[in-house]
Amino acid sequence: MISIEEHLDRILQAVHQLPPREEELLAGRGCVLAEDVASPVALPGFTNSAMDGYAVRAADVSGATGAAPVTLPVLGDIPAGSTERHTMSAGECWRIMTGAPLPGGADAVVPVELTDRGLEQVRIDAAVTAGRHVRPQGEDVAVGDVVLQAGTLLGPRQVAVLAAVGRDRVRVVPWPRVVVLSTGDELIEPGQTPGFGQVVDSNGLMLTAAVAAVGAPVRRIGRVRDDDQSFRDALADALEGADALVTTGGVSAGAYDTVKAVLSRSGTVQFDQVAMQPGKPQGFGVLADGRVPVFTLPGNPVSALVSFEVFVAPALRQMAGQPAEPPTLEAVAGHDWSSPEGRTQFARVVLRREGADGVDWTADLAGGQGSHVLGGLAAAHALAVIPAEVTQVHAGDQVTCRLLTPLGTVA
Ligand code: AMP
Ligand code: MG
Repeated sequence: MISIEEHLDRILQAVHQLPPREEELLAGRGCVLAEDVASPVALPGFTNSAMDGYAVRAADVSGATGAAPVTLPVLGDIPAGSTERHTMSAGECWRIMTGAPLPGGADAVVPVELTDRGLEQVRIDAAVTAGRHVRPQGEDVAVGDVVLQAGTLLGPRQVAVLAAVGRDRVRVVPWPRVVVLSTGDELIEPGQTPGFGQVVDSNGLMLTAAVAAVGAPVRRIGRVRDDDQSFRDALADALEGADALVTTGGVSAGAYDTVKAVLSRSGTVQFDQVAMQPGKPQGFGVLADGRVPVFTLPGNPVSALVSFEVFVAPALRQMAGQPAEPPTLEAVAGHDWSSPEGRTQFARVVLRREGADGVDWTADLAGGQGSHVLGGLAAAHALAVIPAEVTQVHAGDQVTCRLLTPLGTVA
């Protein structure tokens, strides 16, 4: 039996960051940037108004008060989107809208609320200082500024700044294209009525959704029969255009454990017993001339999910140039439970907030802990990681949890 760390290390040594690729801007969302992006333009691109109001020379309204207002002639309107270059002289003003270019000669904007909103001429009831309510050209970004550095994760805000500086394409580390392949003679498609001895390929759906949740594109191949030729054919199909392969089922010691039988002969996939519960039988290797990592997960649903979280998700993230390990959460055990000796336990737990200020998290076991129990798995918020040497968890013990769901969805 090998430790989790040993198995994970072997995986993370063998999988590599994918080569950078140019993508359309929105297609790069969720990826890390593979280049420093320097802006070829200034932002704002032109000096503009921060308010709806009147563009003035501050000196012309420096004495304005409610009791002693200043009245100025209005030369016209400058709406946002106006592309004309307007100017004005001392003693004049323009009515101007938020985002519209400031006319030449103006140096401040009087908000509309401080005026009588006049169209031909306007009464101004308050003074403004030079620069007030004006967004100067280049205030945000100067030409040549590096707006984003290589390694930055592209989310909505990063996409926005890239678009604003004129980019419609971007160089990123792509996510691996993943294929999920389910094996087992007993499997049927969701929606079909199971005959005696048949089960729905829930793992195929679960793992496909899990890959998508990590952020990678995924293709699912359902129900591959438990014979060598069927599996070899499916494997050839799966490797077509794949950067990583995840299989489920067929890796135990049974007579029909085809995945193990076929891939053991490949010479590059290694099968181990890993000191964890659930998820003991694990296989990992690389196929297609060392290019495509393959993860052979157990068929038991909980084992498959835990194995995915512990081994596959970190590897996929590393291939995408992102931190392999997700952040964890510290919680306190809500009650006692036992844990197997010599194996790390991944206990399915539900989380709840405790304490007067509601900042502490308590973890309670989520239903049955058998490796086939899907109900408890679906109800769980997290996996509590109980170290191999611990055989008994006591109420009040601190437990480290790997989140299975965003905390915001936990009541
Ligand atoms: P195996 O690892 O193939 O020996 O399967 C172990 C257990 O997991 C058996 O009870 C299978 O019926 C079940 N199982 C295997 N593959 C799947 C799957 N794709 N979806 C749901 N259950 C599965
Ligand atoms: Mg099977």
